[in-house]
Amino acid sequence: MSDPGGSPRLYVGRFAPSPTGALHFGSLVAALGSYLRARQQGGRWLLRIEDLDPPREVPGAADDQIATLAAFGLRPDSPVGYQSRSAKQHRAALERLIECGAAFRCGCSRKDLPADGVYPGTCRQGLPPGREARSVRMRTDTSGVECFTDAIQGRYCDHPGRAGGDFIILRGDGLIAYQLAVVVDDSASGITEVVRGADLIDSTPRQLLVYHRLGLAPPDWMHLPVITDENGRKLSKSDDDDPVVARPPAEALRLALRALGHEPPAGARLIETQLDWALTNFDVSRIPRGPIAVGEAST
Ligand code: GLU
Repeated sequence: MSDPGGSPRLYVGRFAPSPTGALHFGSLVAALGSYLRARQQGGRWLLRIEDLDPPREVPGAADDQIATLAAFGLRPDSPVGYQSRSAKQHRAALERLIECGAAFRCGCSRKDLPADGVYPGTCRQGLPPGREARSVRMRTDTSGVECFTDAIQGRYCDHPGRAGGDFIILRGDGLIAYQLAVVVDDSASGITEVVRGADLIDSTPRQLLVYHRLGLAPPDWMHLPVITDENGRKLSKSDDDDPVVARPPAEALRLALRALGHEPPAGARLIETQLDWALTNFDVSRIPRGPIAVGEAST
């Protein structure tokens, strides 16, 4: 990406785990992929703990995630960021979206929604009589399409208005939703490319809509292969799936590099040697689109 003036922008990447449990093998792949990409672009790499959902947070998980990443040599270039500290900016963005009509207050609870989960537009024109505002939704348009070209997955388009309809940016429990917070924070940190697992690719069109409505320039995108268990199920931190710490670090790093399509020389046994090799040899065109089962990476 370049500035309008033509001078190249400094690359800024990030890894943004929610502190809902120990990092799993898929998280290591995402962290490593975003780190290598940032280093290869001569850029900076940031770490942001997405601690916006206290009910789902596991005490100690954030510190544990930071320590796990450091054990692999994945240390951020700035002090670790915490999403909970930008509550003011999240609220300001929410108010702006409501004021300009891009978002609206909604009085529906889950039981008011149809079984297909697509929001029927009940409160779009104002709260129906007798309803109180519970949440805030982003206004979508059924013909509105958001497209981007992903560095791995290629061209991707979706109609946020058709996929799920007007989506939540302030939850009924008063918490700011991921789709808004991630845009505000990535933009405030000057992230130039979001590198994350492809399980989140269907969120990207909704986030693009938020960028556009806030008048912010969106970053570039690179969605890494999803790592699944042997049954094809995505690994989950909350379910304590395949924690990174279950394997010796050098073995876990080799497997993570393999999942990204890279095979360090057999003699590279130490974390540092493998990472050095990866920094010199990282090549995005070798990364598979996925999904990849953990077992496949180990053979
Ligand atoms: N916090 C999300 C997670 O832990 C990642 C969000 C993102 O990278 O945009 O899965």
